[in-house]
Amino acid sequence: MPFRNIHGQDKAVELLSRNLKEKSFYSTYLFLGPDGVGKKLAAITFAKAINCVSSGEKPCTVCPSCRKIDSGNHPDVVLTEPKNRSNTIGISEIRKILQKAGLKAYEAGKKVFIIDGAHIMTPEAANAFLKTLEEPPRDTIFILIATSKELLLSTVVSRAVIIRFRSAPLAACEKVLSEKFNIDRKEARMLSVFSSGRIGRALEMREKDLIRKKNAALDALFGKNKPYSGSPKEDIEFLLSYLRDLFVYKATGRKDLIFNADRTGEIAVLKDRYSFDRIDELIQKVVTLESYMDHNVNPKIVFDVIKNSLAELTPFNPGPKG
Ligand SMILES: [Zn+2]
Repeated sequence: MPFRNIHGQDKAVELLSRNLKEKSFYSTYLFLGPDGVGKKLAAITFAKAINCVSSGEKPCTVCPSCRKIDSGNHPDVVLTEPKNRSNTIGISEIRKILQKAGLKAYEAGKKVFIIDGAHIMTPEAANAFLKTLEEPPRDTIFILIATSKELLLSTVVSRAVIIRFRSAPLAACEKVLSEKFNIDRKEARMLSVFSSGRIGRALEMREKDLIRKKNAALDALFGKNKPYSGSPKEDIEFLLSYLRDLFVYKATGRKDLIFNADRTGEIAVLKDRYSFDRIDELIQKVVTLESYMDHNVNPKIVFDVIKNSLAELTPFNPGPKG
């Protein structure tokens, strides 16, 4: 995937492209930003472009080097990441990297080591790594990926060039999703909202069929459906987005401000049935109940209480969807 396919990160892409064009690289990059905005994709694309042997646009994605990186078989490009979210990156993983970094490159290009989750290195691992950053081996580039620099050793941060990745404004995210990925506009809006403008996250949500789950959760909460089967915390977020829509639409009359674009019809009907005070009261109640989940109250119980609160607001009989 070439750089032009990384959307919404113009500044980061511009800087990396300039380094490529000038063939002048820093020894350590730190890609910083929230999850799901394309940091890892950009790091792999950068590693490919650095080592690409094509004479045209880099990375070409088809030369032997690009293909080896794509399949994870390039001897000089190594991606290290935690096995799952609760894992750390320990000293043994870092030692493996440092040993490789001390060797000559197998192929003609540069060695690139990508560490995704640099902020979850154990202190031992970070200290071992720091020594290498102080005297980086020749022809070696480290790309550290982290969500926040406060979680890294300041001595590591100070040796790296920081490249920031950001969430896109919702409208921009929506535009990319609909124009570049051919996603229906309504769905693109909802994915932008629920991913908070993180394009990578939005695409992942789409793959996980989030919109269907959202509607199943809402239907379950409003008693139209059998009990929920999703994540209670996520389901409550969906409900809050829906109540927020009710409030905003009642206040502004603007359909384009509705997050749950696929339920515009019923929101339009419901908004006339409830006062601002009543909607607000319900939102407060849901927020309070949600906070109980952080205090080890069984989510199933919280969910049932919320469901009962919604039932109090009868008649809650949504009109036709649309
Ligand atoms: Zn290539």
